[in-house]
Amino acid sequence: MSLSAIQGRIAKAEEKAGRAGQTTLIAVSKVQPNDRVKAVLDEGHRIYGENKVQEAAGKWPDFQAQYSDIDLHLIGPLQTNKARQAMELFDVIHSVDRPKLAKTLARLAQETGACPDLFIQVNTGEEAQKAGILPGEADAFVGECQSMELPVKGLMCLPPVDEEASLHFALLAKIAARNGLSGLSMGMSGDFEKATALGATHIRVGSAIFGERDYG
Ligand SMILES: *Cc1c(COP(=O)(O)O)cnc(C)c1O
Repeated sequence: MSLSAIQGRIAKAEEKAGRAGQTTLIAVSKVQPNDRVKAVLDEGHRIYGENKVQEAAGKWPDFQAQYSDIDLHLIGPLQTNKARQAMELFDVIHSVDRPKLAKTLARLAQETGACPDLFIQVNTGEEAQKAGILPGEADAFVGECQSMELPVKGLMCLPPVDEEASLHFALLAKIAARNGLSGLSMGMSGDFEKATALGATHIRVGSAIFGERDYG
């Protein structure tokens, strides 16, 4: 696959769903070597996702010096002691998943007068090893974040690998709708077309654009 092939598939899925131009493609560049990232930058793509603050801090400032208008999204868990650095580096944070983090972000936003756009991560599969607020606690948590004046734009999920993703996308869409949130960060390399059909506004595609990640 390549960037243009993925863009073509997204456009088709959007059209089929009557949602032309409504999904933002986040190219997930975690672990990928710089030359692969540079190739996608050179094709003109400007929206990228990383799952670790440290890794992003090591690689994006150089790219940001070379390419203008890069939009950087944090899609992985955020420790409170890295919140300040994350708020400086990222334009959007998709992994707001607990009250302690929300409080820290609110305090820093107050102090600095700025805050990235935020998505609340929902653990739709209620998996013990996965981050995210439980579906039953999501409404209260959205309210709590809003009462702290955090700029919550939507919800994010990462479905269990062994379950039908569509059920989780539909659940996330339902929780967002009843909370009046328009943003839906859902869908990855294997299921972004389903996510687009169910209303995704942000899809996070890594390996289908860059190739398999080499963790060796
Ligand atoms: C790595 C990652 C992705 C991209 O996964 P691919 O299967 O490579 O498309 C999407 N979302 C999150 C949260 C990730 O950590």
